[in-house]
Amino acid sequence: LGELSISIEQLKVILLTHQDLDHIGCATDIRKKSNENIIVYAHEFDKPYIEGKLLLIKTNASRMSNEELAAIPDEIKYLYTNPPKVDVDIVLKGSQMLPYCEGIEPIFTPGHTPGHVSFYLRKSKTLVAGDALVFANGQLMGPVKQTTLNMDQAVHSLEKFLHYDIEHVICYHGGYFQGCPKEAILRIKEHIAQGES
Ligand SMILES: [Zn+2]
Repeated sequence: LGELSISIEQLKVILLTHQDLDHIGCATDIRKKSNENIIVYAHEFDKPYIEGKLLLIKTNASRMSNEELAAIPDEIKYLYTNPPKVDVDIVLKGSQMLPYCEGIEPIFTPGHTPGHVSFYLRKSKTLVAGDALVFANGQLMGPVKQTTLNMDQAVHSLEKFLHYDIEHVICYHGGYFQGCPKEAILRIKEHIAQGES
């Protein structure tokens, strides 16, 4: 934001793709540092986790073994026992056009988490894929198996992207990919069908 000369106070909305710690971690601080009118969006299936009413599915200390807990660096241990939470103001349900950037369409893409959502920015033909896709080694890959709760569902969700005219993809892990993800999605599906990862 600093590089773009945008201040936190200028932000109007936070669109959360899903509940994972590395995606919601700053939302509370951003809300505090911005104006309190900032609007937080998330899917209804991930909302109770994001709001702290349920423990986060993946970084849940009560589900981890003593060895796993011991392996977490001390300085971030508090995140596992007392994860950040933020109130969700508007619940994403079906497809509803959001009135920002001349139209942002949420695409429900469950699998990585139950309420994972990707966002399509109509005007710039940009897909914000969250963790539904990963950009690594110069190509788009499917969701990471180890951190994806329902792989079949996650791969099925990718098919939804085939219905959109996409020219840019932004993955949370790996960043920017220029082009249409169609070829990559067909390749990912084929690999999965063949039992490869
Ligand atoms: Zn994630």
